[in-house]
This record gives sequence, structure tokens and C-alpha cells, in this order.
Amino acid sequence: MKKSNLYNWPEPYKAAFVFTIDVDVFTPLAWRTNQQYKNNYAEYEQRMFGITQGIPRIIQLLKEKQIPATFFVPSLVAEKHPGLLPEIIKNGFEIGLHGHCHEDFTQLSDKQTEEIIEKGISIFSEQVGNIALGFRAPYFKMRKNLIANLIKHKIAYDSSLMRFDHPYSIEDFVEIPVDWTFDDALYWLFAGNPSDTLPPVNPIQALENWKANTLSLIKTSSLINFTIHPWVSGRSYNLEKVATLIDFVKDQKTLWLTSTMQLARFHKNSANFENFKQGMNE
Ligand SMILES: [Zn+2]
Repeated sequence: MKKSNLYNWPEPYKAAFVFTIDVDVFTPLAWRTNQQYKNNYAEYEQRMFGITQGIPRIIQLLKEKQIPATFFVPSLVAEKHPGLLPEIIKNGFEIGLHGHCHEDFTQLSDKQTEEIIEKGISIFSEQVGNIALGFRAPYFKMRKNLIANLIKHKIAYDSSLMRFDHPYSIEDFVEIPVDWTFDDALYWLFAGNPSDTLPPVNPIQALENWKANTLSLIKTSSLINFTIHPWVSGRSYNLEKVATLIDFVKDQKTLWLTSTMQLARFHKNSANFENFKQGMNE
């Protein structure tokens, strides 16, 4: 592995940007309360804002700005809202799995992990047919066996890890890495719980951070993996800043605005695949 080499992007690009949406809505609350989520009805309602207003606004914004995006959806959300996945695809966007009920996979056995992946694939394929899917681990957390499971079930890539700040290979499997500083939850997630961001970061400050970090990552030939949650960024004052960030990244002519699936395919078919490869036990 040549760790000092820069990642090679397709000409004329020097770095890449992907826009991803984690459609968690009520599922982290359901996981945390062992499905007794309606006992916390206020938080449930706040999270469901992502379905009623967040997603429609985000889809409208992405279409206006004409940029690709991937929606990572827990299969329980798809099950309860069977129109959601077809609607995302109809609008030209990609989908990926995000657990069933936003599980913390570090707390699950190998068997439970496999059951959840199989259940997710089965729900997705009933609703949208057998299409290529990516995966994102809820909370960006997993045990190593999860990757083996994704490979076994022919998932095209994972997007949850951070060993590099550009795509890399875990044996023959593609990783599209994430970055906490580009996750809206760090800035704006607040539902009155002890772990929430208090006070939420001023949206203007969040935008300035993202712009500055984007410019740094272009200099190092890296990937900007921007991640939002519809119940968080769907609020007008936040989404307005997300829209400004999209305009800013579109103005960076050396930045490749692509999708996670396109990026996974590019990585797999480029010299980067071998140059940035690690074994499962390294
Ligand atoms: Zn999530």
C-alpha cells in the first residue's frame, strides 16, 4: 500500500464531493427505547418532520441545483412509508441501506447482523426490485463481521469508515469514507437529550466551517462526503445554508460532484483500487 501517494481523480478533477442523506427519522429513537418510541411522542413528532417536510424540501433543492445524491434509508422507514424509495428513485437519486431500525451494530451478534442485512435487502427489493445498493452503518458504527456480510450479500460499497479521506479498498470491497465534520448532526441535532449539540451551532458558522474544510480537502485530493438528516437540515434556516454550500461546491471547478455509486464504480475500475487497499486484519 502506497500511503503517501495522492488519490487520482478523473481529469480534470482534483477532489470529489458527494451529497448523502441519512433518512433516520424515528428509528434511532425506536432503537434506543426498544420500540417504545411513542412514549416519547414529542421527539417522535420532531423526527417525523423529516418525512413530512424535510425530504420533500431536500428533493426539491437537489433537483433545482441538479446535483446527484444518495438517500441511506433504514428498512423499517421504507416498510412504514412504502412510497418513499420509489419516490427517491423516480426523482433520479440513489438509495442505500442504513440498517433496519438504525441498529448500533457493535451491540449485535454475527447472526443478528446477517438477519438485519437480509431483512433490509428483502424489503428494498420488494419495493424497488433488485438494484445495486450501497450501505451506511448507523452512527458510523460496526463490527468487522458487518463488512464480510455486505460482501456476502453483494452490496456495492460501504460508506461509514474513515481510514483514508478518499475512497479505498478493504480487500476487494469499496469503502467511500465519511467525515464527522461534514455531518449536520454535529452542528444542529437537538431534541432535548443530554447527547445533543447544545446550543445548536449558528447555521452561518456551520456553513463557514464546511466551506473552509472543502478548500482544505481539495488541496489534499480528498473526498468531501456531506451528510444530512431530513429532520435536522430540513428546517428552513439550516437548508438555506446547505443550498449555499451546494452553490459553493459547484463553483469549485476542480471538484467532481458525483454520487456514491458512481464513485464506487470509478474506484473499483481505477489504479486507486490497488494503490489504496488494506487487508481485513491490517
Ligand atoms: Zn443514521
